[in-house]
Amino acid sequence: MQSHLEQSTTADILKKVDRYLRKSGGRMTGVRREIVLKMAELGKPKTAYQILEAANKKRSTKLSAISLYRTLEFLIEAGVVLKLESKNAFELCLNGAPEHSHLIMVCDKCGQVREVHDDALAERLVKTAKKNGHMLKHHAIELHGVCSDC
Ligand SMILES: [Zn+2]
Ligand SMILES: [Zn+2]
Repeated sequence: MQSHLEQSTTADILKKVDRYLRKSGGRMTGVRREIVLKMAELGKPKTAYQILEAANKKRSTKLSAISLYRTLEFLIEAGVVLKLESKNAFELCLNGAPEHSHLIMVCDKCGQVREVHDDALAERLVKTAKKNGHMLKHHAIELHGVCSDC
C-alpha cells in the first residue's frame, strides 16, 4: 500500500496525530504515542498481533492485547488509523480529511493488498453520501479479486 508517511519525520507525525486527537476531543498519551510511532515504522497494514509484537519487543512491562485494541479503536475514531476489515489489519494514515476513502485491491488468492487512487470516484462517494444524509468517516473500500501475479 502506498504510504503518505514516507517523507514525514517522527516529529511531524506526532504533531499531526496530536492535532487530530485534539479535534476529536482526545489527547496524546504515552501508549497512543508509542503505537503511532510503531505503526509509522511498520508502514504497510499490519494485524493487531504484529503491531503488539513489535511494540512489546522493547518493553519490560508488556502491553496487553486489550489496551492495544482500545488504543487502535481510539485512533480509528480520531481518523488517523485505517482498518482493513477483511484482513483485520491496521494502517496509520495522516491524510487529513476525515471523510476520505481508500480503495484497496485485495487479492483473494495470495492475500496481496494494493491501494489505488481515483479522485473522481472519491468525490462522487462523498457527494452521494452527503445527498443521502450520510456523513462519511475515514474508511477503506475493499475491491476483492485476483491480482496480476496470480
Ligand atoms: Zn486515510
Ligand atoms: Zn494474488
